[in-house]
Amino acid sequence: MKKIYLVGAGPGDPGLITVKGLELIKKADIIIHDRLGASKELLKNAKEGAELIYVGKRPGAHTFKQEEINNILVEKAVDDKIVVRLKGGDPFVFGRGGEEVRAIVRNGIDYEIVPGVTSAISVPELAGIPITDRRYASSFTVATGQEDPTKEEERLDYGKLNADTIVILMGIKNLPKIVGQMLKSRPPETPLALIENGSTKDERVVVTTLGEAVVRAEEEGVRPPAIIVIGEVVRLRSEFGR
Ligand code: SAH
Repeated sequence: MKKIYLVGAGPGDPGLITVKGLELIKKADIIIHDRLGASKELLKNAKEGAELIYVGKRPGAHTFKQEEINNILVEKAVDDKIVVRLKGGDPFVFGRGGEEVRAIVRNGIDYEIVPGVTSAISVPELAGIPITDRRYASSFTVATGQEDPTKEEERLDYGKLNADTIVILMGIKNLPKIVGQMLKSRPPETPLALIENGSTKDERVVVTTLGEAVVRAEEEGVRPPAIIVIGEVVRLRSEFGR
C-alpha cells in the first residue's frame, strides 16, 4: 500500500519533534523536506541510503511551486516504502499541508498525520511570552502576514482581529501594512514583540510597541523567520525573568 506520513518537525530546536516523528525519520526510505532551519539537524537521524529531497525555497534558484511538490509526493509514494513529508512546526499551520493531503487523497494514496509543535505558540513561550494568561489574555488568534495573492474573497483586515493576543506568522515583509491596520483599533502603546529564529541559539527578541514596531524592526534588521506577538502578554516577559 502506498502511504505518506506528514510529519511536523517543530519550531527549530531538534529536540522538539514528537517521539513518533523521530521514529519515522529513522525508518524512512524517502524524506521530502522544506527548509527546516535548525530542525535540519533532524535529518542526521535518517538511515544510511535514505533519499532526502529538498523542496523548500532556494535563494536565487528555482523555487518549487506547490503543484511540483504535490507531484513529487505522488511520484515518490511507492508500495511498502516509508515516505515522510517533513514540514516545519505543525504541518497544518500555514504549511499548505491541506493542499498536499488533497493531492495525496486524489491519487488514492494513504496518509497519516504526525502533528508538530507549532512555532505560533512555542516560539513566543520560549521567549518568555505565554500567549494566554488568566489576568491579561483569555483568547488568541494566529494569522498569516502573507495571504494567497490569488484569493478572491475579501482580504484579511488586521485591524479587525479582536483576540487579546494576536500572533502573526510570515509578517515581517508586510509589517508596515499590518501595524497600520492594527493602529486603527488599538493604541500605539500596545506591547509588541518580534521573535526571530525562536527556539534556536540564534534567537533574537525585540520588545517594542505597535506605534514603534516598524522603526524598531528596521533598526534591528529583523529578518524571517520571525513571529510577531501583539498584546498585554508581551509585558509578562520581564515578570518571567526573560
Ligand atoms: N507550519 C509552521 C509555520 C509555517 S509558516 C509552524 O507550525 O510553525 C513559516 C513562518 O513560521 C515563518 O515565516 C515564521 O513566521 C514562523 N516561524 C517558523 N519557525 C520559526 C522560528 N523558529 N522562529 C520564528 N518564527 C518562526
